[in-house]
Amino acid sequence: MRFLMESNKNYLKYIAIVILFVLFFGPSTFPASASGQYQEDGPVYIVQPGDTLNTIALRFGVSSEDIQSANGITDPNAININQQLIIPGLEGITGLLTSEVLQYGTSLLGLSRQYGSKAADLIYLNKLSSPSETIAGQTFIIPIDETKPTKSSAHTAALRETILEYAIRTGISQWETLSNNQLSGSWDILPGEELFITSEISGNQSPIPNVSAISFNNLPIIQGETLELEIISSTPGQFSGTFNDKVLNFFTEDGETYYSFLGIHALEEPGAYPLKIMLTSEDGSADVFEQLVLLETGGYGNEWVNVPEDYLDETVIQKEDEYLSPILNQFTPERYWDGRFQYPVNEPCINSQFGQRRDYNNGGLFFYHTGMDFGVCTPNLNIYAPAAGKVVLAEELTIKGKAIMIDHGWGVFSGYWHMSEFNVSVGDFVESGDLLGQIGNTGRSAGPHLHFEIDITGTPVNPMTWLSQEFP
Ligand SMILES: [Zn+2]
Repeated sequence: MRFLMESNKNYLKYIAIVILFVLFFGPSTFPASASGQYQEDGPVYIVQPGDTLNTIALRFGVSSEDIQSANGITDPNAININQQLIIPGLEGITGLLTSEVLQYGTSLLGLSRQYGSKAADLIYLNKLSSPSETIAGQTFIIPIDETKPTKSSAHTAALRETILEYAIRTGISQWETLSNNQLSGSWDILPGEELFITSEISGNQSPIPNVSAISFNNLPIIQGETLELEIISSTPGQFSGTFNDKVLNFFTEDGETYYSFLGIHALEEPGAYPLKIMLTSEDGSADVFEQLVLLETGGYGNEWVNVPEDYLDETVIQKEDEYLSPILNQFTPERYWDGRFQYPVNEPCINSQFGQRRDYNNGGLFFYHTGMDFGVCTPNLNIYAPAAGKVVLAEELTIKGKAIMIDHGWGVFSGYWHMSEFNVSVGDFVESGDLLGQIGNTGRSAGPHLHFEIDITGTPVNPMTWLSQEFP
């Protein structure tokens, strides 16, 4: 015991000397391979929940037999969460292999600077064909040297700012900045590029000068979900943008935090789509940033429903959609709702979830469910407003039956179909919990139920998300 304590002390002393040495002479004094104890056989991966030997082998492009033999594993099914595995066959790669979702605004160069990893290693590990192929929302494998502290985003280089100017402004020496960012000199830095300082604090990153942070509620973006963007900037100006050619509308209540909500269509093809953000300053100058963002499947199932044939008439469906379109596409710059949406019924029993691919009368899976259905499980048929807003529709339609729509502001609407009676009319302001009417069986309905949906700029999104989390 005593011996152990002594040797621990010596070890700490050794580490302290090494750290001082590195600080003094710079990291370039040491070859990268000297930093860990497991470098000879390959880098180390820590087993995550859901991993199997096969998925790990696939991720790193090696065989599971090679991982087994490098780690002396006899039973391939006996790997544990948090177990350290040596990954063989990754030439030149050292350290700990971690994975991280690439945030919007981060380039491969930025990622390599943040973690002190070589860009070439990142390209090799992530099977990229070019360094510009960085899609926000993609999970990247990053080799990190555990002995070095991670770096946090410090500053977005302004146009034509030199390292010397940056050093004067931030009080961080230019040599330290150069070394932290693997730069050979001021000429290496590009406008709009992220610079990093060594620190434990992890900051939000922004690729636009005068914008301190850009964040998403979900990365990757998911089919049928609500995309919420939050931008923090104290520079007076106007934000605009697009996602896959759909316009992003920005709203602010304090002139510093800007929000944008976009409905991602439940049938949008998974893939990478461009997301562009622009800040137009008061003097008319504009800063633009664009990056591909990953959109993933919502994993929705299928369901088969029988309804009278009349309700499947395409011209009737189209006419009704066209009638509602101008109502759903109006913009109220004010936000009426506050906090999480409440369930629109007293005792919710859910018959059908949002996003299910739907087949009506065995005609094929050509439809999808644009909301969620509440069945009738109690004698109470009351429907309540889930949040404050203005009633913009209260009438009987062919498909939707007796229908109500509420405008909650900022392009967010809620809809209630197949009702039997109304307690409100168009123009009424409702508060959360106000009685809207009664559950019924009007329109294209296969039995008494409430169809409840949330639409954002005319696109139906998963209402369950609005019932379970707060926006913004
Ligand atoms: Zn429904």
